[in-house]
Amino acid sequence: MAALPRITLVATGGTIAGLAPAGAGAFEYQAGALAAEALLQALPQAGELARLGSETLFSLDSKDLEPTHWLRLIARLRDLLAQPEVDGIVVTHGTDTLEETACALDLCLPRGKPVILTAAMRPASAPGADGPLNLLQAIRAAATPELGACGPLVAAGDRLWRARDIGKRHTHAVDALGAFAEGPLGLFRGTALHLGASPTAAAALFSDALPERLPWVDILPGYAGAAPSLIDAAVADGAEGLVLALAGHGSVPERWLPALARAAARVPVVRASRIPAGGVWPQANFDDAAHGLIAAGSRSAWQARVLLSFGLARGLGKDALAGLFAT
Ligand code: ASP
Repeated sequence: MAALPRITLVATGGTIAGLAPAGAGAFEYQAGALAAEALLQALPQAGELARLGSETLFSLDSKDLEPTHWLRLIARLRDLLAQPEVDGIVVTHGTDTLEETACALDLCLPRGKPVILTAAMRPASAPGADGPLNLLQAIRAAATPELGACGPLVAAGDRLWRARDIGKRHTHAVDALGAFAEGPLGLFRGTALHLGASPTAAAALFSDALPERLPWVDILPGYAGAAPSLIDAAVADGAEGLVLALAGHGSVPERWLPALARAAARVPVVRASRIPAGGVWPQANFDDAAHGLIAAGSRSAWQARVLLSFGLARGLGKDALAGLFAT
């Protein structure tokens, strides 16, 4: 019998590693309280799927993760993926900013070995905790070599998603994650994984050396009556790029146009939407070219911010940045 694949669990915190004191309410718990090893100890069945190693990189509630944490995580995962004795990786993470970290990993990790993120909505100590099964399913996916070509994936709620297609869609329901554009790549039944279509290769956009820091990009929300002074304030405050999370299909309020022209003359401005699915397409509903804006394409505003940060870190100009969003 072939030896089981060697999978490393890298924990970063989140509710999946959360603990609540006895008798606590549903929202009274500490995220990231359990180390990676403890998550595996609570899951003896995982040993039937893989030979497991573990490390705790962060113990954070994902609301407190910063772009510097993305860089540290990417660097560590690149190291692990380069090791011949690692066949795949599982990353545990909070659901709050999973979408952003997932995007950063998708942009920067080499393809070849599966990297599966997972998370949970209920702390490990809660009745009906969803973390253990999500983790077990993530390990199953990480032990499936053909998934290595797809780039990072997210396993949660019996589904397997592309990292760049995931978002948090509910504040507390257990089935909180949903797709931005395509929908799940596969479904789990217990630890069996059923893939809908053959996994396709998607190259990492940034495979070069990591920057020391990521340029600051602000997200500005569009809403009825939103003041254009927000735009000038963000640029004056030092934002090196802007993402607009606008209503509808990236609908730009008329009264924003003068401030947007001032901003776009200084920094790249991406036209995205606050709607949790669909995307914003170039020259649709707005003349991006005439106003010097970049349409977010198939990226949510949150993932557009991550992509813009990495593009700016590489020193790309507006045309090259627009090309990134067209991918
Ligand atoms: N606040 C938690 C976190 O993102 C929520 C979760 O994990 O579901 O770390």
